[in-house]
Amino acid sequence: MDTKRIPCTPRANTAEHPPDEARHSRGIAIATNRLAEIKKLSPGCYSVPASKSSAAYVVTVRPVEACSCEDSLRTGNRCKHRHAVRYMLKKSGVCEGCGVRHWNEYLFEVADSLTYFEGDMICSGCAADTASETA
Ligand SMILES: [Zn+2]
Ligand SMILES: [Zn+2]
Repeated sequence: MDTKRIPCTPRANTAEHPPDEARHSRGIAIATNRLAEIKKLSPGCYSVPASKSSAAYVVTVRPVEACSCEDSLRTGNRCKHRHAVRYMLKKSGVCEGCGVRHWNEYLFEVADSLTYFEGDMICSGCAADTASETA
């Protein structure tokens, strides 16, 4: 048996290496609190604000999921920034009217409009503008 392969101490669970549950909830917190600061840089690539500084990390979701932060680069973990982007993509969408990203509960599917295509998702503000146009 090759004893060299057995780590002598398990990795310390410090703040730098929070367990996955913590990364997940921190990622949701970043997405929830700072949605407007998560910027699309190119298709499948986003800039995510750091939680403790004014820095920002680059997260890609395609072709491979990656982040420029230490946690992700060094450990290969799905870091809080990657969790933030995944959560954002699942729970929000970009309004066809104003181009701003909104949480899904503030987006409405267009049924009948002269301005938008049927099935387009628009925010409540743009929906209100459309309603006054046709009134
Ligand atoms: Zn990261
Ligand atoms: Zn809008």
